[in-house]
Amino acid sequence: MRPSLLDPLFRPLTSLKGAGKTMAPLIARLIGGDKVVDLLWHLPSGLVDRRFSPLIAEAPDGVVVTLTVVVEAHQEPPPRSPSPYRVVCRDASGFVTLVFFHGRARYLNDLLPVGETRVISGKVERFGGAPQIVHPTHVVPLAEAEAVCRVEPVYPLSGGVAGKVLARLIAQALDDIPDPAAWPDEWIDAPLKAREGWPGWIDALRAVHAPEEAEDLRPDHPARRRLAYDELLATQLALLLVRRAARTVRGRPIVGTGALRAKVLAALPFALTGAQSRSLAEIDGDMASPARMLRLLQGDVGSGKTVVALLTMLTAVEAGAQAALMAPTEILARQHIETLAPLCASAGVRLGLLTGRDKGRARAALLEALAAGEIDILVGTHALFQDDVVFAALAVVVVDEQHRFGVHQRLALSDKGRAVDVLVMTATPIPRTLTLTHYGDMDISRLDEKPPGRLPADTRVLPIDRLDDVIAAVARAIDGGAKVYWVCPLIEDSETGDMAAAVDRQALLADRLGPRLGPRVGLVHGRMKPGEKDAVMEAFSGNGLDLLVATTVIEVGVNVPSATVMVIEHAERFGLAQLHQLRGRIGRGGGRSTCLLLYAPPLGETARARLETMRRTDDGFEIAEEDLRLRGAGEVLGTRQSGLPVFRLIDPLLAEDLLAIARKQAEVIVETDPDLAGPHGAALRVLLYLFERDAAVRTLRSG
Ligand code: ADP
Ligand code: MG
Repeated sequence: MRPSLLDPLFRPLTSLKGAGKTMAPLIARLIGGDKVVDLLWHLPSGLVDRRFSPLIAEAPDGVVVTLTVVVEAHQEPPPRSPSPYRVVCRDASGFVTLVFFHGRARYLNDLLPVGETRVISGKVERFGGAPQIVHPTHVVPLAEAEAVCRVEPVYPLSGGVAGKVLARLIAQALDDIPDPAAWPDEWIDAPLKAREGWPGWIDALRAVHAPEEAEDLRPDHPARRRLAYDELLATQLALLLVRRAARTVRGRPIVGTGALRAKVLAALPFALTGAQSRSLAEIDGDMASPARMLRLLQGDVGSGKTVVALLTMLTAVEAGAQAALMAPTEILARQHIETLAPLCASAGVRLGLLTGRDKGRARAALLEALAAGEIDILVGTHALFQDDVVFAALAVVVVDEQHRFGVHQRLALSDKGRAVDVLVMTATPIPRTLTLTHYGDMDISRLDEKPPGRLPADTRVLPIDRLDDVIAAVARAIDGGAKVYWVCPLIEDSETGDMAAAVDRQALLADRLGPRLGPRVGLVHGRMKPGEKDAVMEAFSGNGLDLLVATTVIEVGVNVPSATVMVIEHAERFGLAQLHQLRGRIGRGGGRSTCLLLYAPPLGETARARLETMRRTDDGFEIAEEDLRLRGAGEVLGTRQSGLPVFRLIDPLLAEDLLAIARKQAEVIVETDPDLAGPHGAALRVLLYLFERDAAVRTLRSG
């Protein structure tokens, strides 16, 4: 359980003054969380120095100043006039006019009563020599001057959240930090802290939220580095604890006879690539060892993960046990079955399929066969892990396209069988720097070599005003027997918008291509029911459709080997990784393929760099590194939905040295005090909870 010490920080945002029912969700969205603690992690990106308080006459143009003035007169504009409301103020040196557009007389009279002294802050501008301040940011009585006349942090903002509101909430959150005396000792190793000259945790937080000069905002400022280190340490410690928990469940050594593998390898029309053989050897080593396997197989689209998965599962079957293969969607589960069925048949291996759609008698029969050990390999979706799915002897689970799988799910998975080996496959090449931060609990194999003979897609980048040419080229390709994907623009925050664009495009293409060629133009989008989607995909993969207009639902893993052309509209709106995934859908049959990236000018610098990268290379790992460079680590992997840890205080790329230190320290901790029961244990537990790595704490014996 979370230490009660942290309770004030884990209250909902709505418990704060100024975060009501309407405001709280907007703020939650901005700061990436709905608890008080999330405010603490929202660090200033700038500052405004309001300490300069000259006389009016000496205030330079365009500079933020804080003035002490006496209110002289109000000039209310006539009704319905476009002129602003003006308030004239003065000090010993002259006059300044405060300008308020749409100013309300009542409010302004309260704020600035004639004859009173007020402290105001804002930027002075001169029009025809007369100084004025448009919408001063602060107007307070003399007694509150101190609150204004200081360096003010500036926070990243987004729609509907005002800077002042956010700053006030963050100030409250800082006040909510329990008294230093209540905290356990420092969780950072003392020599390290001394060497780096880091402040304590609370001092560091207070310091980052009260920058005094630009230097204080730099990521290498000691207070920022300390907080970044806290987060890295929490993450690495959590990953190592999870890893340890997964592994200390005594595994069963699984050693195959090689008999089934030999049959399947003989049935394959190709030899394994070097990368496939290497990965398999790593997997075999894991399975043969008594410790449990927790391995990530990374390989670009088309790098041949499926065969590796099958051969892995065959080892289990050879050893008299069962295997499961889990896909993220039903389409993909079916596709796996189609690929695996002939190969399994050649080796006499019994295959089963279980999806959420299976109900009633058929399902019951399948489960019975499974429990009786009459099914060797079960393929399916999340349905595989429902409670009533009982295996006779599950030895290995392969999870495909794991993208959305977090540490929690990895732990849950292995609960299914005693000491089940887990192989996770992802088509998202992950840059080396990020594998440690996100998959530090797993061992990693990389399929960094494509099967021979695969030609990279010929990729071209064109402005959208060439649409007519593109349609003509597509028509020619279809004439020549090609199948074409047409991917429609991604519209931000709007599933319906996506769909509308795709529907329009289908209508246009059917209209333009249909009469002459009679090609059949299909449509698939995220709003369709799974059954409808499957039907369309089947028609496209068979002979029913020549062109498929799609939103990004085709992104994940769908295999239509005969598709050789892809048009992506508004390619500039897609991320690199996404473009790469999409393009990976074509040219899977071995022939020449073409990818046309259409963009709407003008192109921003980053978008241009992305499209150029796509044109230049086909190597997923290279694209991933480039993506990371262009976007920063936060965006490459770290959304909450993905189930991967989110970094709040740090760009792991900018703190590689800290990451290495955190990893080292975490290793030492797990080695010397694996249950966090030692002198630093209490502090480390607080750290884990603070960064919401609760899953890791639950692995502790006295969690
Ligand atoms: P992934 O799942 O990694 O995207 P697949 O496993 O679907 O890739 O393999 C893509 C294609 O490459 C399949 O048609 C598969 O049969 C073929 N393939 C796999 N391994 C090899 C190999 N070693 N040599 C030639 N073709 C291969
Ligand atoms: Mg695959």
